[in-house]
Amino acid sequence: MQTWTTAAYLIAAILFVTSLAGLSKHETAKSGVLFGIAGMTIALVATAVVALGAASGLGVALLIVAVVVGAAIGLWRARVVEMTGMPELIALMHSFVGLAAVLVGWNGFLEVEAGHLVLEGSLLSIHHAEVAVGVFIGAVTFTGSVVAYLKLSAKIKSAPLTLPGKNALNLGALLVFAVLTVYFVIAPQVWILAVLTVVALLLGLHLVASIGGGDMPVVVSMLNSYSGWAAAAAGFLLGNDLLIITGALVGSSGAYLSYIMCKAMNRSFISVIAGGFGATSSAAADVEGEHREIDADGVAELLANADSVVITPGYGMAVAQAQYPVAELTRTLRDAGVEVRFGVHPVAGRLPGHMNVLLAEAQVPYDIVLEMDEINDDLAETDVVLVIGANDTVNPAASEDPGSPIAGMPVLRVWEAKDVIVFKRSMAPGYAGVQNPLFFRENTQMLFGDAKERVQDILAATKSLAKSG
Ligand code: NDP
Repeated sequence: MQTWTTAAYLIAAILFVTSLAGLSKHETAKSGVLFGIAGMTIALVATAVVALGAASGLGVALLIVAVVVGAAIGLWRARVVEMTGMPELIALMHSFVGLAAVLVGWNGFLEVEAGHLVLEGSLLSIHHAEVAVGVFIGAVTFTGSVVAYLKLSAKIKSAPLTLPGKNALNLGALLVFAVLTVYFVIAPQVWILAVLTVVALLLGLHLVASIGGGDMPVVVSMLNSYSGWAAAAAGFLLGNDLLIITGALVGSSGAYLSYIMCKAMNRSFISVIAGGFGATSSAAADVEGEHREIDADGVAELLANADSVVITPGYGMAVAQAQYPVAELTRTLRDAGVEVRFGVHPVAGRLPGHMNVLLAEAQVPYDIVLEMDEINDDLAETDVVLVIGANDTVNPAASEDPGSPIAGMPVLRVWEAKDVIVFKRSMAPGYAGVQNPLFFRENTQMLFGDAKERVQDILAATKSLAKSG
C-alpha cells in the first residue's frame, strides 16, 4: 500500500509541476488546468484510500461527511461566484488553509500531550518546532487573509491602518515568536502555544490592515505564498510528502508572483513581506480642471478615421462584462483595416491575469494582447486609445506626483496618444482612491455610462457609419 501511495503522490507532484508550466502561457493554460485537476484527483483518491484504511468506523464517517460538505460548498461557491468576486473568494480560501494549518499544529501538540504520539529526544524537539512554525504561519495567513477578504469585498475600507511605530510592532511580534518557539521546544506548555497563536493572529491582522488599496495585488499573491508554506508546515506535521511538495510549489510560485508584482508596481519586496508599505506620509496633489465629454457617435467617427487603436481594459470592463462587445468591436475595426491592439497592465482588474482571462474568454486573439512594457513605447504613435474601465493603471500621477500613494508605479502612458477616450460611469477615483489627472488632459474625452452599453452603442454607430459611407 505504502509503495502505491508513494507512486501516486509522485505522479500527482509531477502533474502539479506540469500544470504550473502550462499555466505560464496563454496557449497552454487550458492544458495546465487539466493537469492540475488530474494531479489533485490522484492526490485525493490516494489520500482517501490511506485515511480510510487507517481510520476507525467513526473516523471514516466523519471523513466522508467532511468531504461531502466541503465539496458541496466548493461546488456551490464556484458556480455562483462572479468573475469580479474571485479575488475575495481566493482570499477566503487562503484563510481556510491558514486555519487548517493552525488546527493541524494544535492537534500535533495535543497528540503528544495525550500520549497518542510518542516521540523522544531530538525527534520530539523537531516535532515541537514544526508545531510552533506551522501554527505561526497558519495563524498569520488566517487573519491576514480574512482582512484581505474584507478589504477586497469592500466590507471594510481599503485605506491603510497606520498605528504609531507599526514597523516596530511587526518586528516585535517576530521577536516574540522566535523567543516563544525556543521556550516551547525546550519546555512545551499549552500557554506558550496559546500566546504564540494569539501573537501570530494579531500580526496577520496588522500586516494586511496596514496596507493601502493600491498595494493589495501584492498582498493577495503574498498571502497565496503564505498559504503554501502553511500547507507545507502541515505536511511536515502529518508526515505527508505530497502536502509538503504541493505547499512548497504554492509557496514558491506565490513568492515569485509577488516578486513580479513588486517589480511591476515598483515596490520593495522586503517591505511587502514586512507589511510596512502602502501608506505615504506626503499628500497627493489635488486635481482640478474641466473634463470634456463625447458620445458613442463621436467615438465611432474617431475610430473610423484611425489607423491604429489601443484598448487598455481595467476592472470596470470586468464589472460591466464588456469583453464580448469589446471583442466584437475589435473584429469590426480589424476587418476595416484598423490596427487594434490591447495593452494590459500587470495589476489591471483584481487578480493577476484578470484581463487576459476575460479577453481569452471573448476569443480575442492572443497575439494582439500585449503587456504594458510591450505597448508603452508605441502609445505615442497611436491614434486612439480606448480606456475601458481602467483608472489607477492609466493614472499619470503615478509618474508625475511624488506625493501620490501610487507614486513610482509604472502605468500605461495612454495620455501620449493622439486621442484618449475614457469609459466609466462617473468621475470617481479607482481602487487606490487616487484622483486621476488623465480625465482633464486636452486630448482626453470621457464617455460616461456602463462600459458594455457604451461599447454596444459604438458598435451600432460604427455599423451605420459603414452603411452610409
Ligand atoms: P480601477 O479599480 O483603478 O478602476 C476601475 C474603474 O472602472 C473605476 O474608476 C470605475 O469608475 C470604472 N467602472 C466600474 N464599473 C464600471 C462599469 N460598469 N462601466 C464602466 N466603468 C466602470 O481599475 P484598474 O484595473 O485600472 O486598476 C486596478 C486596481 O486594483 C489597482 O489599484 C490595483 O492595484 C488594484 N488591485 C489589483 C489586483 C490585481 O491582482 N490585479 C488585486 C487587488 C487590487 P466608475 O465608478 O466611475 O464607473
